[in-house]
Order: sequence, then structure tokens, then C-alpha cells
Amino acid sequence: MSTEVREIELVWHDLVPRLLTVVRNERITPKMARITLTGDDLDVFAYAAPEDHVKVFFPEPGAELPAMPTIGPEGFEPPGPDGPQPIFRDYTVRYVRRDAKEIDIDFALHGHGPGATWASTARPGQRIGVLGPRGSYLNPLDFDWYLVAGDETALPALGAWLEQLPAGKPVIAYAEVADPAEEQDLVRSADTTLTWLHRSAGQSLGAALAEFRAPAGAGYIWVAGEATALKPIRRHLRSLGLPRDHVEVDGYWKRGIVNLDHHDADD
Ligand SMILES: Cc1cc2nc3c(=O)[nH]c(=O)nc-3n(C[C@H](O)[C@H](O)[C@H](O)COP(=O)(O)OP(=O)(O)OC[C@H]3O[C@@H](n4cnc5c(N)ncnc54)[C@H](O)[C@@H]3O)c2cc1C
Repeated sequence: MSTEVREIELVWHDLVPRLLTVVRNERITPKMARITLTGDDLDVFAYAAPEDHVKVFFPEPGAELPAMPTIGPEGFEPPGPDGPQPIFRDYTVRYVRRDAKEIDIDFALHGHGPGATWASTARPGQRIGVLGPRGSYLNPLDFDWYLVAGDETALPALGAWLEQLPAGKPVIAYAEVADPAEEQDLVRSADTTLTWLHRSAGQSLGAALAEFRAPAGAGYIWVAGEATALKPIRRHLRSLGLPRDHVEVDGYWKRGIVNLDHHDADD
């Protein structure tokens, strides 16, 4: 296995808040809504990497418009105790069509919280706020192999990983979903092995990745999902001897916690 460290370049983007309008709400699986949004300035939307994500601002129940973010010299300024309290959550940008001034965001419909609740009933013409992406991690595309894995919340990034990684490099992918009905038809090259794990059958990322052994050569690992479930996974994957920057394990949400407003990426 190679321990040579390759640079993961971070490119910053201007932080642009946008009020966007729902064009479509498509159920791509029973519990995943793909919401297409449009806005006048989406022809210059910054997007460069699979993990690129935005903060989505939702209206209060019954309100027409969301409270939008305040942008200061340091970027997004969390609201003080007075004034409107924006309701926001992090979501990955699944597709960008600048010519059509559209983006797609896939929402896991888990039944709780403003994000999942809004997405389950969103109708054309409704509006939400979108802030970002703030930056893009430009991972080198010349590793010898890749491991990419995640649960439903990570599927938008995982799908983009599979589309963007070059053919000819082995890609080992695991996707954990509730049951077979939640599998998505993800584009993949001949060099990708994608295994769907069904919680309904007792399968999990934790059990699958505990068996993972690093192939020869320089590898890159990206995993995202529920923060607590990722802890033993992170420990195992970091014990494989890859440079630390080549093992990215991100908590995207935490069971029992409302709005995990940061990537839970530490041990
Ligand atoms: C960088 C990043 C990118 C993300 N991209 C996406 C994405 O593209 N699509 C997506 O659906 N999510 C994505 N997430 C996860 C999403 O931000 C969280 O799931 C968020 O909590 C959803 O907000 P909510 O209002 O639905 O629920 P919250 O109000 O935050 O939480 C309410 C309750 O629901 C639980 N909960 C939250 N999420 C889930 C879940 N998925 N399954 C079961 N229970 C849950 C919480 O533990 C809490 O008990 C991303 C997160 C990060 C950090």
C-alpha cells in the first residue's frame, strides 16, 4: 500500500444566498424526493466536486418565504436571539444544469424535522433559500483505488462520486438503505463494485466495512452517514495505514439530534 500523501485542494466560492423556486418534486424511491429548483442566477452556480453541498433554508410552517441568512465578513452569520430565526439544514447538490438554470437536491424522507417534512409535500412554485456551496474539495482523480460508502443522506454525493471517478480505477462502493425499494439506479463504470446493504435484512455499513482490507497502491476513502454508526467505521478505516487526509469519514446526521450543524468528522 502506498503512503505517499497527495494534496486535496480546497477551492473557496463566493457565498451566494439565493431564493429558489420548486419546479418538480419527484419520488425517485418511496423515501427519497428529488426536488428540482430554479432561479435567475443559477447559470453561474458554483459546483466542482461530489461532496459540494448547500445550506437549505425552509419557511416556518404556514409561511410563504423562508427567513434568509445574513452574510457578514466571515460568511454566514448564525442568527442572534432577536429577529427572524432561519431554519436551515445541509444538503448535497445532486445535479446542476446551468443552461436550464436548475439544480436538483435529493431529500431523504425520514419522517421528522423541517427538511424531511418540507420535502415530502413541496409543490411547484414554492420557495426555499439556498446558500452555497461555500467550497469544493478537489480530490485527485488518479488514486489507484477508491472506497466510497454511505447511507441515504450520502447517496447524492456517492452517486456523483460514481459518475465523476475516471473509468479504469477500481471503485468499491457500499450503500446502506432501508430495503430493496430504496436502491437507486446509479451510473457506474465497469470497474465499480457497488453493494447495496438493506437494514431490513440486518445488513449495515458497519458490518460490511469492518471486513474491508486496503488493496495495493494508493487509495482514497470517502464515507458519510449517521455519526454514531460511523465511529467504529472511522477507527477501522484509519487503522489501515493510509495517510489521514485520504480517509474522509463524515457524520451527516446524528440519531436523536436535531440539525447536526457541522460535519461530525472527529473521533
Ligand atoms: C455535508 C452534508 C450533506 C448532506 N446531504 C444530504 C442530502 O443530500 N440529502 C439528505 O437527505 N440529507 C443530507 N444530509 C443530512 C441532513 O442534513 C440531515 O439528515 C438533517 O438532519 C435533515 O434535517 P431534517 O430537518 O430532516 O431533520 P432534523 O430536524 O435535523 O432532525 C429531526 C430528527 O430526525 C432525525 N434524522 C435526521 N436525519 C435523519 C435521517 N436521514 N434518517 C433518520 N432520522 C434522521 C434526527 O436525528 C432527529 O431526531 C447532509 C448533511 C451534511 C452535513
